Amino acid sequence: MAEENKSRNFIEEIIDADNESGKYGGEVYTRFPPEPNGYLHVGHAKSICLNFGTAAKYGGRCNLRYDDTNPGKEDMEYVKSIEEDVKWLGFSWTKRCWASEYFDMMYGYAMTLIKKGKAYVDDLSADEIREYRGTLTEPGRESAARSRTVEENVALFEEMKAGKYADGEKVLRAKIDMASPNMNMRDPVLYRISHAEHHNTGNKWCIYPMYDFAHPVEDAIEGITHSLCTLEFEDHRPLYDWVLREIGAWDTPPQQIEFARLDLTDTVTSKRKLKALVDDGFVEGWDDPRMPTIAGMRRRGFTPEAIRNFCDEIGIAKANSLVDIAELEHFVRDDLSLKTESRHVVVDPIKIIITNYPEGQIEQIAVENNRNVPEMGSRTVPFSRELYIDGEDFMEVPAKKYFRMFPGNEVRLKGAYFVTCTEVVKNEDGSIKELHCTYDPATKGGDSPDGRKVKGTIHFVEATTAVKIRIRNYEHLYVTDETGEQVLNENSVSETFGFAEPSLGEAEPGERFQFFRHGYYIADSKLTTETDKVFNRIVELKSSWKPAK
Ligand code: ATP
Ligand code: MG
Repeated sequence: MAEENKSRNFIEEIIDADNESGKYGGEVYTRFPPEPNGYLHVGHAKSICLNFGTAAKYGGRCNLRYDDTNPGKEDMEYVKSIEEDVKWLGFSWTKRCWASEYFDMMYGYAMTLIKKGKAYVDDLSADEIREYRGTLTEPGRESAARSRTVEENVALFEEMKAGKYADGEKVLRAKIDMASPNMNMRDPVLYRISHAEHHNTGNKWCIYPMYDFAHPVEDAIEGITHSLCTLEFEDHRPLYDWVLREIGAWDTPPQQIEFARLDLTDTVTSKRKLKALVDDGFVEGWDDPRMPTIAGMRRRGFTPEAIRNFCDEIGIAKANSLVDIAELEHFVRDDLSLKTESRHVVVDPIKIIITNYPEGQIEQIAVENNRNVPEMGSRTVPFSRELYIDGEDFMEVPAKKYFRMFPGNEVRLKGAYFVTCTEVVKNEDGSIKELHCTYDPATKGGDSPDGRKVKGTIHFVEATTAVKIRIRNYEHLYVTDETGEQVLNENSVSETFGFAEPSLGEAEPGERFQFFRHGYYIADSKLTTETDKVFNRIVELKSSWKPAK
C-alpha cells in the first residue's frame, strides 16, 4: 500500500498535534531501548520499524539505547547482535547510548527526590513490600520507614551506595500514595542493592535504578520527545510522569505512548523463552533458521524489506492481537517472487533414460530465470539421455486427474521435449530402478508442430552434471495441540537431499533461489561450503493465507 494512501496511525496523530502546538519545537526524537540480555526477535522488529520509521518520517532522530540496568544478565555477544540486526533491517541510529552512562546523573536525581521529601530508604524485604502493597480492593500499609527525615534518608542512601548493606537489605522508594488505585503508585521501588559486577561500570556501583525510575530519566537526559513502549506499561505512565515532574529538571519532558505488542501464532516472542530453547539445545543457536529472532529470520532467508513491509501492513494499534504467522510468510514470498531466479532441483529423484536419444550427447536448453520478471533473462540447463525427475512427478498407477508422468502418458519436459514413459524398470526388491522413455525430436523447445497438446509439464535435472545438495525444510517451532495449548514441535526440521542443475554448485552462502515448483531457498550462511551446498527452505511457494478484503 502506498504510504500516502494510509491514514495516520494514532502515534502520528499525537506527533502531528504536538508539532501543531509547538510542544517540542517541531522535534521528533525516539529511541529503541533493548536490554542486552538476548537476541532481538520479530516483536522487537516491530518496535524498531516503529521507532526508527517514525523518526525518519518526520525528519527526526532515533537513538539505540542499551537498557543495561540489570548487571549480570548482559552480554557483549547480545550487544553485537543487536547492532547487526538493526542495521540489517535498514536503520541507523543517531546516537548509541548506554543507560549505565547515566548512573551518576541518576543517583543525583534520586538525591533530588530524597531532598524534596519524595523518596525514602526502606528496610522492608521484597516479600514484605509486596505484602504491604495491598490489593486492588484494599489500600496498602505504610512502612514505618516512611517517616524517616530527609537527613536520615540522605545518609542511608549514601551508605547504600557505599556498599554498607547486603543485597535486599534496603531499597529506595518513591513516597507517593499507599492508597492509590494504581498499584504502581504505591511507593514503588526506585533503587535496589545488587553486589554484582556490571559489564560497563565494573564494581563502581552496588545500587541499581529500577526500570520505572531509570526509563523516564534516560529518555529525558537524551531529549527524547515521544517514548514509545508496549501496552503493558500503560499503568506505569502516571509514574513515568511523576518521576520527571518531581525531579523537575526538564521544561518539556518526554511523553510515553503505548502501542500493542506483536504476537504471532505458533511463535514465542520472549527472550527468556527463546534463551531456554538455545540453552536446552532444542535449536542450534539464537540464529537457528527456525527461531523468530532477527538473526534466525536472516539465516532462514527472510529479507529486511519483507519484514518491514509486514510491520507496516499490520500497523500500530492500541489493542493487543494475535497475528497469523502466515501473514509474515506471505510478505516474504511476495518480496522473493520478484527477486529470485528459478533453479531446477529434484527431490526424491527418479532416473529416466530416454532410449531414443543419442548416447553421449548433451544439449543446452534455455529456461527463463523468473517467469514474472522477463528482464531477469534466461539461462541454460543441460539435457541428455539420462535425467532425473522429481519423485512426485511419476505414478506407476496414476491417481485420478494425475497429468504428470505415468506409463504411456506423454508429458513435456520443461523447455525441452515431449517424452512418453515406455517401461518401468524395477530393482529386485520391487522398488523403481529407472524409467525408460522415448522423446519426440520434433517437439524441441517444448511445443509440438502438429498442435498436439500435453497436460503435464515437469522439470528435470541432467544426470551426469547434477549437483547433489542438502535441503533443510522447516516447520514452525510451536504447534497448537488438541487442547489448544502451544507446544514445542518435535518435527520442526527435516533434512533431505536433492539433485540440482550445475549452476547451484556455485551457489554462495546467502544466495536465494526459487526451486522450481518447490519453494524459495537460501544457501545456508553457516553450513554452505565450496563442496557442500546446504539450502534452507525460506517459504513454500503457495500459502493458504489471503489478505483481508
Ligand atoms: P522480552 O520479553 O522478549 O525480553 P522485552 O520487552 O523485555 O522483551 P526489551 O529488550 O526490553 O525486551 O525491549 C526493547 C523494546 O522492544 C521495548 O521498547 C519493547 O517494548 C519492545 N518490544 C519487545 N517485545 C515486543 C513485541 N512483542 N512487540 C512489540 N514491541 C516489543
Ligand atoms: Mg525487558
